[in-house]
Amino acid sequence: MVLPMKMHPLAAALAFVAPVLAACETNTPEPQAPSSKPRASRRCPPPRHHTVDLAQPMQEGMPVWPGGVPFKMTRTSDYDQGFRAHRFEMGENVGTHVDAPAHFVPGKRTLAQLTAEEMVLPAVVLDLHEKVAGNPDYAVRAGDIGDWEAAHGEVPPGALVLANTGWGARFRDAAKYLNADGGGVLHFPGFAADAAKLLVERDAVAIGIDTASLDPGASKTFDAHKTWLGANRYGVENLANLDKLPPTGATVVVGVLSVVEGTEAQARVLAIVPETDEPQTDDDPDAATPSSGH
Ligand SMILES: [Zn+2]
Repeated sequence: MVLPMKMHPLAAALAFVAPVLAACETNTPEPQAPSSKPRASRRCPPPRHHTVDLAQPMQEGMPVWPGGVPFKMTRTSDYDQGFRAHRFEMGENVGTHVDAPAHFVPGKRTLAQLTAEEMVLPAVVLDLHEKVAGNPDYAVRAGDIGDWEAAHGEVPPGALVLANTGWGARFRDAAKYLNADGGGVLHFPGFAADAAKLLVERDAVAIGIDTASLDPGASKTFDAHKTWLGANRYGVENLANLDKLPPTGATVVVGVLSVVEGTEAQARVLAIVPETDEPQTDDDPDAATPSSGH
């Protein structure tokens, strides 16, 4: 199945890049007569956007799904041999990564079958951190998407829908992040199947979350994975810094490795966030500063 793209994902990016380019053209100096005094060259204004790193830094000790292959970095040569280099070893699901449709569903697309167009998407960000604070097993429901739509309009076709649960802040403490109980059952938020189903209807291209799974940690049936990946769409897990994104307006680049026959792979995910002229409601008017992650 080919995903119909009713709205080109780059439209959102170009919407705020274009005015910057136009401003540059306006500022191009007029050709000068040879006798005239050289005039200070006018520069393009700085771009009116900032970039947020949505990928967790990779290092040994980072969380790994129970039974998985942890991240291990081994030095294979050093400066006295001419250069420093390393070998990485890890499961394909360690760190910020993409689940391809074929991860759960036979016959669906693998990583190398995802298109470049599907990797640059307008973001819809659901802010769920308050609901999750009182319930680590929180499941993102269709009603949560309904709440977002009541405020911002229908989720546009071609979107990447991100669940900001606040859980990403725990990533540097693997035990706290996976949050296993005495019986080994994990407790962290994820999507419910009805949310995945609604987003298929909305023709979203991808979903993402700042936890270790699209499904809540305690799930044994992986209904969100099966519903979403079964619709031949991809998911992104272990995202960072979702709290730094606006509910709408950001463009996200999902830089996943293109692995032939691959079912999951690590991704550097970056969000381009336009500056707005609207007055800031935060106490700190400079709160929206560039982020390079933590
Ligand atoms: Zn997954």
